Amino acid sequence: GPLFHIEDLHVSVEDKEIVRGLNLTLKGGEIHAIMGPNGTGKSTLASALMGHPAYEIIGGKVTLDGEDVLEMSVDERARKGMFLAMQYPAEVPGVSNANFIRTALNARLGEGNEIPVMKFHRELQAQMKRLNIDPVFAERYLNEGFSGGEKKRNEILQMVMLKPRVVILDEIDSGLDIDALKIVAEAVNSMRSPEVTFLIITHYQRLLQYIVPDFVHVMMQGRIVRSGGRELAERLEAEGYDWLKHELGIED
Ligand code: ADP
Ligand code: MG
Ligand code: MG
Repeated sequence: GPLFHIEDLHVSVEDKEIVRGLNLTLKGGEIHAIMGPNGTGKSTLASALMGHPAYEIIGGKVTLDGEDVLEMSVDERARKGMFLAMQYPAEVPGVSNANFIRTALNARLGEGNEIPVMKFHRELQAQMKRLNIDPVFAERYLNEGFSGGEKKRNEILQMVMLKPRVVILDEIDSGLDIDALKIVAEAVNSMRSPEVTFLIITHYQRLLQYIVPDFVHVMMQGRIVRSGGRELAERLEAEGYDWLKHELGIED
């Protein structure tokens, strides 16, 4: 079966149904992009998949390697290799970036398999260098006072350190200049393997020039309304969403 499967998912926020019957099948080695106008529920989908308590699952099924994700705790989802780079990463005062990542990595590796401290720091410094993140950021509190672009690169640092299997990136490109975007894309591309699947949420075609998706999906009003290849992203960039709304009979 597929690595990650979403079937007829319905999610409500504050009693309003936002995700309204969403289906997606992600196989190992694939990169899927989700595009869509603001407010269509893309971030809601991402948060709900990770088990964020503000997002209530009111129907549907989600599986990872055939296992029921919706039955798993938030920690269990992370342990099993689900990862979300958030659109708006939270600041966590009092917790250093390095400790945060080491705790998450050890949880992922499991009891008895923890990474030795020295090895962890060597690996962390190497990945920070690769992502062009100043070494002092290891000991700074998580995201506190980080610029928008620093927060985004830091999310990618977590990704490369945790080696997840289901990678969800929510507008990772926002706030990144072109050089940072290329660095982030290189990190994502280097993780491509048959054991990993990617769900990349973005407003802009620009990112998809560097991370080439196998499938592009358009989300509107809480559903996937059109799927295609990268040419779909190019058309959306050139012409916007109106032609598609018109074809689908969707009013704003
Ligand atoms: P997108 O990511 O596609 O821009 P969102 O998922 O952020 O869309 O938002 C979809 C809708 O859900 C919006 O109307 C938004 O106001 C609402 N929403 C999302 N998260 C929350 C929340 N935590 N509390 C209240 N409303 C929310
Ligand atoms: Mg938005
Ligand atoms: Mg969003």
